[in-house]
Amino acid sequence: MRIDLYDKKRLGIYVHVPFCASKCAYCDFNSFVPDDGEIVTRYVDALCAQMRDYRDSGKNYVADSVYIGGGTPTSIDPRELKKIISSVRRNFDVSKKAEFTVEVNPGTASYSTFRMLKRAGVTRISMGLQSADNRELHLLSRCHTRQDFVESFRAARQAGFDNINVDLMFGIPAQTPDSLMKSLNFVMRMEPEHISLYNLKIEPGTPFWENRLNIAPILPDEDTEYEMYSRAVEAMAARGYMQYEISNFSRFGYRCIHNLKYWNCEEYLGFGVSAHSYFNSNRFAFTDSVDDYIEAVTDKSSSVPLTSESEILEARERMGEYIMLRFRLNDGVGSVDFARRFGVSFESLYGGKILKYLKNGLMEKRSGSYALTTKGMFVSNYILSDILEFEDLGSVSRELV
Ligand code: SF4
Repeated sequence: MRIDLYDKKRLGIYVHVPFCASKCAYCDFNSFVPDDGEIVTRYVDALCAQMRDYRDSGKNYVADSVYIGGGTPTSIDPRELKKIISSVRRNFDVSKKAEFTVEVNPGTASYSTFRMLKRAGVTRISMGLQSADNRELHLLSRCHTRQDFVESFRAARQAGFDNINVDLMFGIPAQTPDSLMKSLNFVMRMEPEHISLYNLKIEPGTPFWENRLNIAPILPDEDTEYEMYSRAVEAMAARGYMQYEISNFSRFGYRCIHNLKYWNCEEYLGFGVSAHSYFNSNRFAFTDSVDDYIEAVTDKSSSVPLTSESEILEARERMGEYIMLRFRLNDGVGSVDFARRFGVSFESLYGGKILKYLKNGLMEKRSGSYALTTKGMFVSNYILSDILEFEDLGSVSRELV
């Protein structure tokens, strides 16, 4: 029986490229600098083989978003990157209107690479700038300068990209609210369609963590971080970048379709090391070792496990996950949507818990939905750990609560 395109379910596809030109001092992502091109080729071949293996599982789906991230996908040979893109298209039904994003670090992609990406059907570029202050970039051990960013951004525009995201960070050692605003204003003058603003966290296993005692005196304190965040949110709103998620801001019509899938608990398949998937109510993740990944995918007789975690979510867990993800969004948790999904009212389960946040201005009710305010988003970890009764995930400013 022929399955009509419109009968197909929607799917997001994520592909992880774990290679970088150099390792940043704060980075705890699964990424590393490859010794040679051989490991890259073997990894890309394994990725393509894995996508082939999933071809049948994905046949009743149409992919409306594809995201190639990392790592730095543009740090590998453009021919290898093209192989990955072709493999996605060959093995899955990618909608003509799909959002197709590739992550790029400034200085790692030339005009011809952007042209190749454009011709291959990539529609969106996500550029990791982090700061427009060269001293801050140096401190983060980023592999590029502010000028590299300007050149890469212009090359992407010249190649025809009309949907570009720029990543920025706040909470960088020695950063001040003024230096953040300078970086942000610089970025807004370049007029990207989307800006992501992340809070730098010092994570175990990173050079920053090893050096944390020396860094601590120059880290912005929580009040300063809140000033940075709130000033940035306000400045972006004034320039037409509307917040739709804790860390994400866009011009009208340019919200990131792929990331919205994560926050809306929609289905996606992830390929590559440590890639996560949510497919058929099943959450799973692949091994974080590149060698194990290549062996498990390419040698079917191998006993090396490919999947590192897998779980079928029970109703109560799905509910908790939904709340956790939806409160990241400006749209928040909708009463009607919650009742439709779980057959029980949000208020009857969590009404008592959320009352104090509604009263102290960290949460508000708008058009039938409960959503965090800017202040609430800044302390979202604390609020969620309280509502869902799990251990606090991070350092938060409890004084605000
Ligand atoms: S470029 Fe990104 S993935 Fe690579 S080391 Fe830096 S932060 Fe990590």
